[in-house]
Amino acid sequence: MKNLNNYYIKTNRSFSFIRKFAWILTVLVAIGGQWEPKLGLIVIFIMAGLTITAFFNGRYWCGNFCPHGSLFDKVILPISKNKKIPNFLKSKFMIIGFLIFFMANFIRRILKIFQAWGTYDFLDKLGYLFSNTYLMVLIVGGILAIFINVRTWCQFCPMGTIQKLSYKLGKALGFAKKTEKKITISNQEKCYKCGKCARVCPFQLMPYMEFSHNNQLNNIDCIKCSTCVVNCPAGILSLEKMSRS
Ligand code: SF4
Ligand code: SF4
Repeated sequence: MKNLNNYYIKTNRSFSFIRKFAWILTVLVAIGGQWEPKLGLIVIFIMAGLTITAFFNGRYWCGNFCPHGSLFDKVILPISKNKKIPNFLKSKFMIIGFLIFFMANFIRRILKIFQAWGTYDFLDKLGYLFSNTYLMVLIVGGILAIFINVRTWCQFCPMGTIQKLSYKLGKALGFAKKTEKKITISNQEKCYKCGKCARVCPFQLMPYMEFSHNNQLNNIDCIKCSTCVVNCPAGILSLEKMSRS
């Protein structure tokens, strides 16, 4: 099998203010929450935000707002080995298996905490759970980011899977069709087939090989980060609303 470990290129992925600095929130919630547990309650709003945005626009959150994504792309990328992400970490078995494992643990702990409903320290206990979860992602995701690739965790992240489910619902109900933006190629004949869009893609997708008849990338895993857009030497990519289909 072809060795793809040197195929991927590190490139600046911090194109917006939020993407550049959202990682501070990760540190604040994961580390600060160990001393001030109520900081963990911020995660409830983050979960609501990612579920709602996904309903209308797929995994846009992952590529533009996610505080962990910002930590991975902005802080860890310079020291990452930037290797090929192993296929088994992207497999349905891993994605579904990890979602079940994560949710079972999470629900078990939530139910235990709700026994303290109405007591003085209920919010602290709840916040502590979210803060610890954030810390776990920081540690596990951070190790994977350094030794494999910065977006390794994102392949099976339960929040990513929840976004995909919310997106599918939004699509089935006809909302995402009107609101979703997708990577769009202005003219497939102008593509150099240089593969740069694939080499810089944080999710290691192959945009230039996947454009549909209506010139859009329909891959549900695209996080709409626009890294391919700003790196395409032909300048033919953009993030646009769905044209047809
Ligand atoms: S980077 Fe642009 S020109 Fe190169 S393969 Fe991708 S779409 Fe085509
Ligand atoms: S295809 Fe482009 S927008 Fe989508 S994840 Fe890859 S680099 Fe980001």
